[in-house]
Amino acid sequence: MKNKLKNDNFRHTRGGNTKIYDLFCSKCGAFVLKYQKDGIGILLRLYFDRITGVSNFTSNLNCSKCNCLIGTKMNYRPESRLAYRLIRGSVSKKIAGV
Ligand SMILES: [Zn+2]
Repeated sequence: MKNKLKNDNFRHTRGGNTKIYDLFCSKCGAFVLKYQKDGIGILLRLYFDRITGVSNFTSNLNCSKCNCLIGTKMNYRPESRLAYRLIRGSVSKKIAGV
């Protein structure tokens, strides 16, 4: 019973929670892009259809200031969505809106 309730809560949160994040380069602090994340959990991928502030999706996402690598282009197969796979620790995020 207890386990079931926990699972329901988690599912509800994942489905109903959307936040807008500003992402910054963790090396130099430059603004990278705005991202709308659905659900909770750590940011592993940036889906192209949730990114604002980028018009040209190149094969690698680099910081415009220090040029360090932030993500690499991938096709997330379960949903067949193009995304950037984030390099671990390459960005810091700040909530910009809900
Ligand atoms: Zn940078």
